[in-house]
Amino acid sequence: MAGLHVIILGAPGSGKGTQAARIAKRYGLRHLSTGDLLRDAVARKTELGAKAESYMTRGLLVPDDLILGLTGEELAKDDKRGWILDGFPRTLAQAEALEKMLAGRGEAIDRVLDIEVDPELIVKRLSNRRVCPKCKAVYNLDTIKTKVPGKCDPCGADLVKRPDDEEETVRRRLGVYEKQTAPLIEYYEKRGGLVRVRGGGGIEEIFAEIVRVLK
Ligand code: AMP
Repeated sequence: MAGLHVIILGAPGSGKGTQAARIAKRYGLRHLSTGDLLRDAVARKTELGAKAESYMTRGLLVPDDLILGLTGEELAKDDKRGWILDGFPRTLAQAEALEKMLAGRGEAIDRVLDIEVDPELIVKRLSNRRVCPKCKAVYNLDTIKTKVPGKCDPCGADLVKRPDDEEETVRRRLGVYEKQTAPLIEYYEKRGGLVRVRGGGGIEEIFAEIVRVLK
């Protein structure tokens, strides 16, 4: 049997990337993060990366056609493990395009998780977020500390602050989320399969709740 097909929604900084990585590991799913794929494209200086970079550093969404090209390619690589989509879809047009892509492949979304967090907590979390540019691990100066300060635990690389985690850009990203992505909650609520998860607590507590609702 093919694996689970899960979408994780939530504002930037809601913890959806951290939870998506855990869910992928626990259920043996592919973790498809459009943000990570785009950051890789920027680092590798590909044509897509060059087009996406200025939107990303300004905290704006990358145009739908670029994202749909990228995700179409990734979903076509399906290897029957199932997937969790993290950061996609982010607009109604993307959600509708995803629906068509999946229908063409005889696949369906099993669950849509919506991680809900207070925006002020998000601003605090993101200003303390540090990421590993090499293995993509995510840390927090307050809550997810490394063994050696500033160095990634598994790979030892120097941690960095994402340029779009500066406070002004975070506030812009939250505005973009409210306007362009939050309407997806209602979209998936109507469609069925949406589950809300309170994302203000600790990582383990939120993960336990997710495992409970995925059963
Ligand atoms: P994330 O790591 O998910 O916060 O994504 C970082 C940035 O990549 C976003 O602020 C957008 O500029 C861009 N991005 C990621 N996923 C999408 C998407 N599905 N649609 C448009 N832009 C995206």
